[in-house]
Amino acid sequence: MPATAPATASGGAPGGRAASAPLLGREEEPTLFELSHPGRRAWSFRTTGVPEVDLAELVPAEHRRAAPVELAEVSERDLVAHATRLAHRQFAVDLGAYPLGSCTMKYNPKVCDTVAALPGLAGVHPAAPASLTQGWLGLLVELEEVLCEITGMAGATLQPAAGAAGELTGLLLMRAYHESRGSVRTKVIIPDSAHGTNPASVTLGGYQAVTVPSDGRGCVDMAALAAVLDEDVAGIMLTNPNTLGLFEEDIAAIADAVHRVGGLLYYDGANLNAILGVVRPGDMGFDIVHMNLHKTFATPHGGGGPGAGPVAVSERLMPFLPGPRPARVDGGGDEPAYRWVTPARSIGRVHTWHGNTLVLARALAYLLATGGDGLRRVAQIAVLNANWLRRRLAGTYDVPFDRSCMHEVVLSARTLKRDHGVRAVDVAKRLLEEGFHAPTVSFPLIVDEALMVEPTETESPQTLEALAAALERIAAEAVAGGHDALAAYPKGTPVRRVDEARAARTLIPTFDARG
Ligand SMILES: *Cc1c(COP(=O)(O)O)cnc(C)c1O
Repeated sequence: MPATAPATASGGAPGGRAASAPLLGREEEPTLFELSHPGRRAWSFRTTGVPEVDLAELVPAEHRRAAPVELAEVSERDLVAHATRLAHRQFAVDLGAYPLGSCTMKYNPKVCDTVAALPGLAGVHPAAPASLTQGWLGLLVELEEVLCEITGMAGATLQPAAGAAGELTGLLLMRAYHESRGSVRTKVIIPDSAHGTNPASVTLGGYQAVTVPSDGRGCVDMAALAAVLDEDVAGIMLTNPNTLGLFEEDIAAIADAVHRVGGLLYYDGANLNAILGVVRPGDMGFDIVHMNLHKTFATPHGGGGPGAGPVAVSERLMPFLPGPRPARVDGGGDEPAYRWVTPARSIGRVHTWHGNTLVLARALAYLLATGGDGLRRVAQIAVLNANWLRRRLAGTYDVPFDRSCMHEVVLSARTLKRDHGVRAVDVAKRLLEEGFHAPTVSFPLIVDEALMVEPTETESPQTLEALAAALERIAAEAVAGGHDALAAYPKGTPVRRVDEARAARTLIPTFDARG
């Protein structure tokens, strides 16, 4: 499409965010390559003082390209406009409530951006020696200590780049621990409510995943657990509160039973929002914990941006932690001194450098700015907000496990589906039209037509009220008009309803399915 193509008329949905602004209402944006004009440049220094080098002298002919690489040639002005237009076509945590259950898309304070942008942090090369990066090492050590305090663990690695990477790291630590004791174990137990990354990590870690069902309370079925526990079990992976938003009340008994057969307990702490400053995985009996700093600690999750999934462990797993790790050593003077150390029986590196360090810096900024009392308050309000929504919406949607929840509540559209042909995904798509991001749908897998809502502590009572009212309106429309009433939504967003299976497989969209 040429850059000058007129904007496609876009549906004319009343009040739709994007439809009202002509520049932003185009259904297709030109790509940067379509904006390209030969010879156009963004900006360059008139003189740099750096001598020109003839590349032909430095790089042997057989390693040089025959033709220059084809890059888009655009002015800075066009580039900025392009990026800004694209940004306006997105929903974002900075724009409104994003109640995506399990994934904690909460507002992230801007002070964290300021800290991560400090030249002394952002400008350091990861290969710079410890002698020149004492501040960075001190920051990492402090972050590790705070994360251990929050989780009740002895030590941690900050290397893993995301939650799933943390899970694999944790399972490799589990394996190293058992192997060091000459114990060959083959199985890891996972509840049927677990996040999909858990069984995947277990398989990648070389173990067989054994699923235990949930009971009528939405917690691990203790009889089913007892039936699969034996000396082949390397450990159990649990999310607590689990993905139904419910606290595993039998956690102490589960820990006892697993430890009795020599297994370890792995805590999926991707989302710590409900327990911060209230209860610690270490005190529940866990041996290994991963945390998603890009959910709980001030980096937005999703969108493919960098994350960080540190793994904290109990004392007996410390010798196996990935290395090198930043460590405080006695420098002799007043100032503490730091260096890199690799634990005796380390499983090795799990990241080429020291992890996604600017995400780590953001997390420490958030932790220090929030403080211990503040973190507890985060948990309290996250739980309060979820329970307020649960009570408010219980008459409108099914609540499969209608008891006190933690930071998220799992609703179900199963009655709407049965009686009116309206599914959870229809509710979610309709909600986009109301200016909210959709909740997580179709997960956890054990709930039919699941709508997993995590309001987070960052939303005000007014926003929660508006979200609840929107969900009530949508249910009323579903009852009055059935599937047809909702099928065409969203109407006012730059991209309307897509065929999701095809959208995932065909990355260049065709827009022929539009209403
Ligand atoms: C998000 C999440 C994960 C995976 O984290 P990624 O950073 O996306 O790899 C694992 N478990 C739970 C419960 C999660 O919510």
